[in-house]
Amino acid sequence: MKAAVYKGNKTFSIIERELMEPHAEEVRIKVAYTGVCGTDVHIYHGMMDKRVAIPETIGHEMSGTIDAVGEKVSDFKIGDKVVVRPLDDRKVKPSDKGFNHICEELKFIGIDSSGSMQQFWNVPAFTLHKLKPETNLRLAALIEPLSVAVHDVRLSGLKAGETAVILGGGPIGLLVALVAKQTGAQVVVSEVNDTRIAKAEELGLTAINPLKMDLVGYVKSITENRKADVVFEVAGVQATLDMMTEVAGIRGRIVMVAIHGQKKEVDLFQFFWKELKLIGVRVYEKEDYEKAIELVTENKLKFEKLITEVRPLSDIQQVFEDIDKQPDGMKILMDCQQ
Ligand SMILES: [Zn+2]
Repeated sequence: MKAAVYKGNKTFSIIERELMEPHAEEVRIKVAYTGVCGTDVHIYHGMMDKRVAIPETIGHEMSGTIDAVGEKVSDFKIGDKVVVRPLDDRKVKPSDKGFNHICEELKFIGIDSSGSMQQFWNVPAFTLHKLKPETNLRLAALIEPLSVAVHDVRLSGLKAGETAVILGGGPIGLLVALVAKQTGAQVVVSEVNDTRIAKAEELGLTAINPLKMDLVGYVKSITENRKADVVFEVAGVQATLDMMTEVAGIRGRIVMVAIHGQKKEVDLFQFFWKELKLIGVRVYEKEDYEKAIELVTENKLKFEKLITEVRPLSDIQQVFEDIDKQPDGMKILMDCQQ
């Protein structure tokens, strides 16, 4: 079988690997599609070489079909369509307080261990979520990032009739916007890149370029001056940190989706003045996956247009080079059987 291997130094190669039988508590998945995540691009850039056991197969946004089952696996059978929730929380401790998805010794499958950018992938059965026979496997490759969005919106407490502002219209920002809209909220996406604004509009979202238009003024105009009930910070730059406290109304909730690698300046006075709340979010829990599966299976979000391209896995090197040349694209899927 074919597998893509990251070798460091911005290099992938396709290797021939022997098909492995799954261990007792594992299954072997015939991988249909794997989406390229921002994290994978980070790995390609060498930013995570300390964490990735080079040479390694990466990838975690996937869909596939079970091809073989270990002898102790009873809940799944050959032919089942599945997705993997790539969190290995087997070393959970009482001090993790039951929040297994962010436990101290969490291992992320596809970064800390082998991922899905290969034809066949052996994984522990506890990571699996079963899809419906009718679930579209292309869309299903978006279940992992969609679960991030479902988790973020759930933890924000966003309700129908409220107004949500999403700062940053990349793939995660747009997924958050779509889930927020599906919740019944009024949604505004703030984005500076014209290609991404056009994509947001194609998906039926309202998108504003804050460099060309007064975002706070616009949000005031559609909320009788109340401003945003919930702000999702998805861009991770100083300008959006400045905007998040400004565009939030009284008792507004700010959800920190972006990963800030460094300390940044935040207008804390606004937290006092408007009684704001800051909510941290990280990955997803089981129930978020179940909700994302339902949204995809019933095609409630109509988000096919997020997938900009489907390329054969054998093109992996070129795919990552192309992403570097055109970083404002949305989701590229790799067909792992080609
Ligand atoms: Zn991802």
